[in-house]
Amino acid sequence: MMDIRLKNRPIEISKSDIKSLPEEEKIIVCARCLFPVTDPSKQMAVKGSFSHIFANPHGHVFEIGCFSDADGCISASPKSDEFSWFLGFEWQIGICKNCAGHLGWIFTSRDERFYGLILEKIIFP
Ligand SMILES: [Zn+2]
Repeated sequence: MMDIRLKNRPIEISKSDIKSLPEEEKIIVCARCLFPVTDPSKQMAVKGSFSHIFANPHGHVFEIGCFSDADGCISASPKSDEFSWFLGFEWQIGICKNCAGHLGWIFTSRDERFYGLILEKIIFP
């Protein structure tokens, strides 16, 4: 239990630590670096569903979950409407603010915006 090595690495919260947090502090973190990305209260349904499965033009299949906000996810590309999975929305690649790992996409329309985060790239509390 007294593991000194962990003391200087505050970002490495273990999954069990997150589970023990009180309800209001529950967070969803980056699966790669455990940086806080969003929280469960930001989950939302888009076109009737929280999760969606899509394939990109290269044949990679992604299961994404929709969030109204994700402070830990930043855009890493210009907006594009090529092959958009959501009609009327442009997308940008979304990466982790901390480790720059790919987390998903940020979808923007004229008056709406949401985050589609790849479910295997994030860890739920
Ligand atoms: Zn990360």
